[in-house]
Amino acid sequence: MKVPFVDLHAQYQSLKHEMLPAVEKIMETSQFILGKAVEDFEKQFAASHGMKHCIGVGTGTDALHIVLWALNIGSGDEVITVSHTFIATAEAISLTGAKPVFVDIDPETYTMNPALLEKAITPKTKAIIPVHLYGQPAAMADIIAIANRHGIPVVEDACQAHLAQYDGRFVGQFGVAAAFSFYPGKNLGAYGEGGGVTTNDDALAKKIRMLRDHGSEKKYHHAVWGHNYRLDGIQGAVLGVKLPRLNEWTEARRRHAAQYTRLLNGLGDMVLPQESNRARHVYHLFVVQTQHREALQAHLASREVFTGLHYPLPLHLQDAYKDLGYTRGDFPVTERLAERGLSLPMFSELTDEQIAYVVSSIGEFFD
Ligand SMILES: *Cc1c(COP(=O)(O)O)cnc(C)c1O
Repeated sequence: MKVPFVDLHAQYQSLKHEMLPAVEKIMETSQFILGKAVEDFEKQFAASHGMKHCIGVGTGTDALHIVLWALNIGSGDEVITVSHTFIATAEAISLTGAKPVFVDIDPETYTMNPALLEKAITPKTKAIIPVHLYGQPAAMADIIAIANRHGIPVVEDACQAHLAQYDGRFVGQFGVAAAFSFYPGKNLGAYGEGGGVTTNDDALAKKIRMLRDHGSEKKYHHAVWGHNYRLDGIQGAVLGVKLPRLNEWTEARRRHAAQYTRLLNGLGDMVLPQESNRARHVYHLFVVQTQHREALQAHLASREVFTGLHYPLPLHLQDAYKDLGYTRGDFPVTERLAERGLSLPMFSELTDEQIAYVVSSIGEFFD
């Protein structure tokens, strides 16, 4: 049996009858950039997370960058985030001219360790970006309490965490704004690039709307200079068709995670993901840890079970961030996870047979 790491085709098959007419409508009306389909999606996405505003942008990276930009963060400033994330989180900081400052993660949730946050704050700290990694929200109550004490805004990187919750509230409701990615493989994926910012702050929303469209509200009148971070009409239509099913897909991911957890418990030296009892984890990824990671990955590939590494080299050890001056040993929890983490196949359409086959292939390896 072949088990892909993600299967975008399976989902498309179930949507085709609705997707093709929705995309055709964009072609027929020529609303290729922004337009009604994007506006409708923005309203629906904001509502799905209990938020007032959603601003559609080109990518999740754009979403992070435009929020920091709108907050006037730039050269000479510092922004605190984690080293254990996709590089886009740190790039968004670098793009403003500010310096990324990393803290280590919690060994159970794999998200920003609030106990280490306060020590990283300096007079130059202008924002904190916790990452809701793998679909698990960071410890938002503690992070917000520390940030408020210092008057520092929190920007949530929710690129992997659509519909995730902490203390019964959706991600995006904690910080001044949140960034979402609609990259095809994310829990809510476009058929191309896509991203979105959510916020309840009217002034911030207005500013971000202007920045994404060359600083203009009225065509060829530019109050400030911005950039082109607009979302395509076709992507708005695709996302609009998919959004009503997101909760169902999320529940399916949660069932698959529960099934993996039941079946993998006690196999070899494997450490399984822990869902915080304050969180609703949406399992963008299902990441296990083992000291035999490379050998297990090769064994699974030989059985046609495809896995991923998220992420094998922490940001503080990347050549791109050499100039920050970090060295191996600075973030031990991050470094250990980078060496031992293995992402198992995870997508909504995964079948019980596929899960059973992945588990029996892992069992075979540990025998
Ligand atoms: C995917 C992702 C991003 C960037 O999103 P793009 O849409 O690919 O630009 C940022 N942060 C995290 C944690 C991500 O997983």
